[in-house]
Amino acid sequence: MTTATSSPTKELVQHQMLEEVRLAIELNDFGISYQSDEIRHLRLTETIPYPFAGQLPGLAFRLPHGIKATGKQNKWTPFSLRVEDGVPLLYREKNLLAIIEFYEEPSHPVLEQKLSDGKSVRSILRIDPHGQIDVSYSAECALKDKGEDCLFCSINVRERDADRVLLQYPRQIAEAYDIVRQAGYGRNFKISGGFVPERRELESYIDVVEAIREKYTDFKGVAVIGAPEDLTVLAKYKEAGYTDLSHNLEVWDKDLFGFICPGKARRNGGWRHWVDSLEAAVEIFGKGHVHSNLVGGLDPKETFLYGIEYLSSKGVVAHFGMFAPQKNTGLEGRRTPEPSYHWELADRATDIQLRYGFTTEQMYRGPGTGDHTGRIFRIKKGDFEGDRLNIYQFPPLD
Ligand code: SF4
Repeated sequence: MTTATSSPTKELVQHQMLEEVRLAIELNDFGISYQSDEIRHLRLTETIPYPFAGQLPGLAFRLPHGIKATGKQNKWTPFSLRVEDGVPLLYREKNLLAIIEFYEEPSHPVLEQKLSDGKSVRSILRIDPHGQIDVSYSAECALKDKGEDCLFCSINVRERDADRVLLQYPRQIAEAYDIVRQAGYGRNFKISGGFVPERRELESYIDVVEAIREKYTDFKGVAVIGAPEDLTVLAKYKEAGYTDLSHNLEVWDKDLFGFICPGKARRNGGWRHWVDSLEAAVEIFGKGHVHSNLVGGLDPKETFLYGIEYLSSKGVVAHFGMFAPQKNTGLEGRRTPEPSYHWELADRATDIQLRYGFTTEQMYRGPGTGDHTGRIFRIKKGDFEGDRLNIYQFPPLD
């Protein structure tokens, strides 16, 4: 599966790329063994960012067609990385799979700049690999106080940047946005966070976008919010300047929603109300501009895919990654499904999303797990040049 022939057809390249994505899903689950000493001189970092777990020992690299893969360091895995004649090679057991290229996260010196109050830009926002500015408005979730946190979520237990404030001020966010815009970033903006007491996110999110739009009218951004009790509130986000909205359902099955996300189910009118709110939001923001995040691997497979079909048919882009159990959460110690299960979800979901005519940009402009399905979507759509799939970058603002 490794190297392309001298002039492969586009279909062959697409097939090879999809096989690389399948392999990347396996690597993510099984991890990879390697000798740190052997590869140290070939890469800058010895850790990889791991969802909600900070930095862990591991490797991030690109496969021959550009697909990015990561694997935690693990002795007990079929995958190994060896260096032969200075070249890093990926093996499965004794079989050579590919020559790889180490991947280093892009560094953004602009994040070290200071705001007028002395805080660093880094403490307010991050820049994701696709160039999106990502703001976490609150560093914890008020559902904790009621014992109603979502069972998979580690927002209230994970370590935090000591510099981070619990709640960001809209003026700080707008100032940090301005600094990164001037440095050429900011083609898309995302604001999310845990529940805040008394549901004050409406005024804060609106203050943020209004403060940004005092200077930048060419703004694209998504507000990730819980379904509001009063659906007329949805229009206020659009009027204030957000181009997209997301309500993260996390699981599709109605009963599982109550079990996995007790706070979301009890505080926001229940599953039906969340779905109604998504559908009402499509009327306001338009098809492809309303999103939901699901956690891939919690629902039964066919239920999950029915959910993707339903949401797509209503114009809602459903995003998902792979369930990874976190320490000190309600699902600690569980296993995520087999890689083949995750592959099948992503493969069938993207077929559905292609059928409903979403665009690549819409597949990325959501609550944050765009690339898991986004890259499969791009490959199937033929949305790449030559025989490599580059890391997706949001297009310039009009
Ligand atoms: S609502 Fe659920 S998923 Fe969102 S931050 Fe709170 S516990 Fe986490």
